[in-house]
Amino acid sequence: SEVLRLEGITKAYNRGKPGEVRVLNGVDLALGRGEVVALVAPSGAGKSTLLHIAGLLDTPDQGRVIIGGQDMTGLPDRARTEARRDAVGFVYQFHHLLPEFTALENVVLPQLANGVARKAAERRAERLLQAVGVADRALHRPAQLSGGQQQRVAFCRGLANAPELLLADEPTGNLDPGTSDQVFGALMALVRETGLSALIATHNMDLAARMDRIVRLDQGRVV
Ligand code: ADP
Ligand code: ADP
Repeated sequence: SEVLRLEGITKAYNRGKPGEVRVLNGVDLALGRGEVVALVAPSGAGKSTLLHIAGLLDTPDQGRVIIGGQDMTGLPDRARTEARRDAVGFVYQFHHLLPEFTALENVVLPQLANGVARKAAERRAERLLQAVGVADRALHRPAQLSGGQQQRVAFCRGLANAPELLLADEPTGNLDPGTSDQVFGALMALVRETGLSALIATHNMDLAARMDRIVRLDQGRVV
């Protein structure tokens, strides 16, 4: 079954105005359950725009976004936000962890916001931190962690609410190559263990080659 289907997605910025930028020109893409797909394209090609649309943070000008079989096109804002919280996890190039909270709390808080009881949230956070090899840093704040450790914690936060779809934008892009390789391995292990589907934008062809499939964005289309 499909976790994500994009059909005929178009998007332009400053639409109809001078300086219009056409970014997506009819993107079609489907992700099967458990599939991990690399999204490869040069900077400025529209990867972030596509991830934002797939993750219901932005709306396309035309086309349909279908997540878990449900057509999200035309949903009111509130329903889109709920669908996003329920189904989608995000990971970015920079970790965006809350600096005043510990690694554990950073993974617990999104669950509390989603109505999970504290004990259960803590257990899940501990399991996730364990899976990416930073359980021994659970009580440290982000500033006390290395870049790679911070990013591992950010992966756990992205998966805190057990999404079925993970969207990642250059998830190891701010790390040096050796660290990037290891930290990416931790992310892949976590994704495989949880069986979720992922669309991962990257410039790094070595990382892309470790995924199930590579798609390229070219002239606003997926090839
Ligand atoms: P990528 O993630 O591949 O680098 P983006 O999706 O960030 O690409 O951007 C695609 C294109 O859209 C770029 O030319 C960028 O300058 C332009 N763009 C992105 N966001 C905006 C915006 N809010 N307003 C106008 N142009 C934008
Ligand atoms: P909550 O309010 O429960 O923290 P939201 O519904 O605001 O969650 O956001 C869900 C997910 O979308 C979070 O992972 C958050 O990081 C991400 N997100 C929300 N708004 C934006 C945005 N403007 N840009 C990038 N990511 C966002």
